[in-house]
Amino acid sequence: MSQKNPANRATRDYLENIKKQGHGSVLEHANYSLLLEGVSRSLTHELVRHRAGFAYSQLSQRYVDESEANFVVPPAIVGDEALETEWRTQIDQAQKSYVRLVEHLMERYGWVADKVHRRKMSREAARGVLPNSTETKIVVTANARAWRTMLELRSSEGAELEIRRCAIAMLKLLHRETPAFFSDFEIYQAEDRREAARIVYHKV
Ligand SMILES: Cc1cc2nc3c(=O)[nH]c(=O)nc-3n(C[C@H](O)[C@H](O)[C@H](O)COP(=O)(O)OP(=O)(O)OC[C@H]3O[C@@H](n4cnc5c(N)ncnc54)[C@H](O)[C@@H]3O)c2cc1C
Repeated sequence: MSQKNPANRATRDYLENIKKQGHGSVLEHANYSLLLEGVSRSLTHELVRHRAGFAYSQLSQRYVDESEANFVVPPAIVGDEALETEWRTQIDQAQKSYVRLVEHLMERYGWVADKVHRRKMSREAARGVLPNSTETKIVVTANARAWRTMLELRSSEGAELEIRRCAIAMLKLLHRETPAFFSDFEIYQAEDRREAARIVYHKV
C-alpha cells in the first residue's frame, strides 16, 4: 500500500526489487520444507550449522537400528575403483562391528527391563563406530531468506562436494517451485566439471 504502482508491475518485479535492496525480512514469510534422503551424516553435520530461520528433524541413531544402514559414497571417490574398494572395506568392517557391539550391549544391559530402553542404550553406544558416510534422512524447513543464504554458501565451488551436489538439487527444486525467490541464482559448470551456483544479490 505504501508503494504506488502506476506501472502495474507484477509481484515478480516487486520481489526482484526486494532482493536487490536486500530487504531480507520480507522473504521470511514464505517457508519451504524438504525431506532429504540418501545423504550422509557428514552432509547433515554441515547443514545443521545453518541456524537462523531453519528447523530440522533427523533420523535418530538411538532409536533406529543401523545394522542394515546404507552408506553414501563421497563424490570425490566415485568412479575410482581402488578408492571405492578401500572405502567399502572400512564401511563393511564398521557395520559388522556395530552389529556385534549392539548384540553384546543388549546382553550387558540384560537387567534393564524395558526392552525399548535397552535397545536405545545399546544403539547409542554402538553408533560410535559408524562412519560419517552413514546414510540419514532429515526434514528441513526454512524461510526463503534462510534458504537463499544457505544455498549460496553450499552451492559454491568452495563447498564440500556432497553438500554442493545436494544444494544444487535443492536450488533447482525451489527455483521450479518459486522462481521469484531464487531467480538470481545462476547454475554453471565449474572448472572441476561439476555444477556450482553463484548469486547476483548477495546479502552480507
Ligand atoms: C565452505 C565452508 C567451510 C566451512 N568450514 C568450517 C570449519 O572448518 N569449521 C567450522 O566450525 N565451521 C565451518 N563452516 C561453517 C560456518 O562457520 C557456519 O557455521 C555456517 O556456514 C553457517 O553460517 P551462519 O552461522 O552464517 O548461518 P546461520 O546460523 O544460519 O546464520 C545466518 C546469519 O544470521 C546471523 N546470525 C545467526 N546467529 C547469530 C548470532 N547468534 N549472533 C549474531 N548473528 C547471528 C548472521 O548474520 C549469520 O550469518 C564452513 C562453512 C562453509 C560454507
